[in-house]
Amino acid sequence: MSDSNPFASLHGQLDEAADYLDLDDQVVERLKQPERFLQFEISAEMDDGSYENFTAYRSQFNNSRGRTADVDELDDDVNGPYKGGIRYHEDVNPDEVRALSGWMAYKTAVADIPMGGGKGGISFDPHDYSEDEVRRITEAYTEALAPFIGEQTDVPAPDVNTGPEEMGWLRETYEEGTGSDAPGVVTGKDVADGGSAGRVEATGRSVAITSREMFDYLGRDLDGATVAVQGFGNVGSIAADLLEDKGADIVAVSDSSGAVYDANGLDVDAVRQTKDQQGAVTAYDAEEELTNDELLSLDVDLLVPAALGDVIHEDNVDDIEADIVAEGANGPVTYAADDDLDAHVVPDILANSGGVTVSYFEWVQNLADETWGEQEVNDRLEDKMVDAFDDLTAVYEREDLDSFRTAAYINALESVADAYLEERG
Ligand code: NAD
Repeated sequence: MSDSNPFASLHGQLDEAADYLDLDDQVVERLKQPERFLQFEISAEMDDGSYENFTAYRSQFNNSRGRTADVDELDDDVNGPYKGGIRYHEDVNPDEVRALSGWMAYKTAVADIPMGGGKGGISFDPHDYSEDEVRRITEAYTEALAPFIGEQTDVPAPDVNTGPEEMGWLRETYEEGTGSDAPGVVTGKDVADGGSAGRVEATGRSVAITSREMFDYLGRDLDGATVAVQGFGNVGSIAADLLEDKGADIVAVSDSSGAVYDANGLDVDAVRQTKDQQGAVTAYDAEEELTNDELLSLDVDLLVPAALGDVIHEDNVDDIEADIVAEGANGPVTYAADDDLDAHVVPDILANSGGVTVSYFEWVQNLADETWGEQEVNDRLEDKMVDAFDDLTAVYEREDLDSFRTAAYINALESVADAYLEERG
């Protein structure tokens, strides 16, 4: 595993993109740092009546695009907020939060939604706490955050180890504290609680759509292509399902228990049922079991890393045989390994941007007091992803690039810089 610093990776990616843009160095340096970085010391009551302290963060990286763009679906005077998830994990630290918030700012630009980027988190392992304790920790965090978030300022969402339940607690605490009705202060809520149809599937769906676009662009057939998916969670399992629907053979999938393999293609639905019932994909009776490292080095047409960051690094990059890599996870390829990866990469800030795009749709529905059906959400997502992919290939060709990642960052940095300069006047 690499010990690469994600914030340094973000800076490297932006520097590479800046070489293709006519931007003042001062502007590039400014757009490498958050506008505001908040650190909170919070205290929450434990079940035994004692209090425990936690360090929590929120990084508001950049919202020039949210503040200057028109929100087409809403009134002209509505501001798009910073947007980004909240992570509960013992490894949460300032540089990780800063980097994730920056990737969000550039991801919302690639997906062309009128929002900026943010990210937050609390440094603790929620599995070590009861549900009531996690609720009280979430409430304490929300009370600290409340002055800085709001429907048109900053709208959190789920990330690692947070989901609809935490988002519901956050909304309740915020509404109680501010005496307001603000369903759009957070996204990723339960559908019954103001969430959007299609949100749960949105990230896996964007991975499948952008993979299909890449196959088309390269003149390759997805029908009959072989696919390996690392991480059979929300993103990976949905992507596997949808790619199977498009005729691909999902030859391998994995989770933290290991990987299962069938050269003729697994039955994705049957693997899911096994995982749901027995908790691990390796409980599925497959032709062969593999390790996660073996899955990554399979000679497949498409590899979808959809588990953790940094899984393709300097020590294993030469073993990667896939022709196309579609990044479901955030940052699955370290910056140091990126140049040595001999594959066409659908970069994370495009491939997994379906999640934040449908979060945007959820926010629009909340502010407009509308409810869109699943088909409408999926159709809108399809349009957004196809447009974003076309924008990517346009700059890839214009600049005669050999990296789709660099193409994505050129578009993203240009868009954020334009908005920043417009605001600066
Ligand atoms: P999830 O928790 O639903 O699934 C993660 C999967 O990865 C699980 O199956 C888990 O067993 C597996 N896993 C964990 N450690 C592993 C290991 N060492 N090797 C192989 N598999 C392992 O999470 P998710 O929501 O699907 O998110 C996956 C990735 O996608 C994360 O990097 C996340 O940041 C990114 N992402 C998610 C969304 C979203 O909307 N859910 C949006 C953008 C990016």
